[in-house]
Amino acid sequence: MSPTSSIPDFRRALLAWYDREQRQLPWRTEPAPYRTLVSELMLQQTQVQTVIPYFERFLKRFPSPQALAEAEEEEVLKHWQGLGYYRRARYLQAAARQIVAEHQGRFPSEKAAIDALPGVGDYTAAAVASIGFGLPYACVDGNVIRVVSRLFALDGDTATGAVKKDIQAKAQDLLDPQRPGDFNQAVMELGATRCSPRQPSCLACPVAGHCAVNQKGLDPHIYPFKSKKVKPGKIDYQALFLFAPGRFLLAKRPEKGLMASMWELPAQESGHFIAWPEWFDGEISSRGHLAKPIIHRFTHLHATYHVAMFRSDAVLPWREGEPAGYREFRWVEEHELAQLPLTKVLQKALPLIAAAIQDERKPCPNATSTLPGL
Ligand code: SF4
Repeated sequence: MSPTSSIPDFRRALLAWYDREQRQLPWRTEPAPYRTLVSELMLQQTQVQTVIPYFERFLKRFPSPQALAEAEEEEVLKHWQGLGYYRRARYLQAAARQIVAEHQGRFPSEKAAIDALPGVGDYTAAAVASIGFGLPYACVDGNVIRVVSRLFALDGDTATGAVKKDIQAKAQDLLDPQRPGDFNQAVMELGATRCSPRQPSCLACPVAGHCAVNQKGLDPHIYPFKSKKVKPGKIDYQALFLFAPGRFLLAKRPEKGLMASMWELPAQESGHFIAWPEWFDGEISSRGHLAKPIIHRFTHLHATYHVAMFRSDAVLPWREGEPAGYREFRWVEEHELAQLPLTKVLQKALPLIAAAIQDERKPCPNATSTLPGL
């Protein structure tokens, strides 16, 4: 904050702007702890505009912790499909189950009990406590780190624990105890719409007069200071599309880790690859490869999938010794895809596979399938 500004004036300026100009978002109407929890988990790593339709669909199907707790995990993941970072969906359901089991289905109103819900970190707990219950806890996420770094012109590296602590303490000092939920949302709104990473609109900023960067004529782009990013790793997979009349083979990923419990084409890391016919005692015949591999970028990993296509005359059992720790294999019919949570890679692959081997399609005048041989 600039040396001449006062915290009460800062709060007034920020909240007046927020009351006037906040975006109308579905989780801001009827704020309630459960709705806040759903929206906050969806908004992690995901843009607001992407989240809106998912939030509305999710709340329609799972309007309460009780409804979410009772649902099948597969249905929950299906409602999350496309948002990515599926661990969030599983945490959300685990939190709902804990609310039902330990709090009789009523969302706990104590900060410590909110903190104890699965998947709820400091930031999310503070958001639920302040927005859902009006408790005075400051939220600190990437937006808030940027805004506070600029407001105070902080020169320390925000990757270090000491600077993070300092930012948390400053955010807590700034928080308006009369309207903590609105204040937290106002700071985040400021970070999303005015104090953005690449194009800060200092001329249109409601708190420019309180901002040290602005008052000292510094360049906002250099705040917050961060240590250099680690380059993402690379991994190469051999994936299998195996089809028999009317069905094709999918594998369910392990319960933990990347894309946990999602369905995908069976895949092996290229470095430990065992030829696909060996898994079926040679009873499958090759239909070639996809011309181009499918590339998918996870946050810390760039994965390349080389898809081989095979056909068998009948549904075959999977040989002992499963690759990649898969939990389950299933021969599925095409219409079942709508009920299963599918990885993004599988969604990218299916139309390419259909195009690549459409000459395998059975001559059937009533066929509606987009996949070959089904
Ligand atoms: S004046 Fe500029 S740098 Fe300061 S808070 Fe506003 S938008 Fe951010």
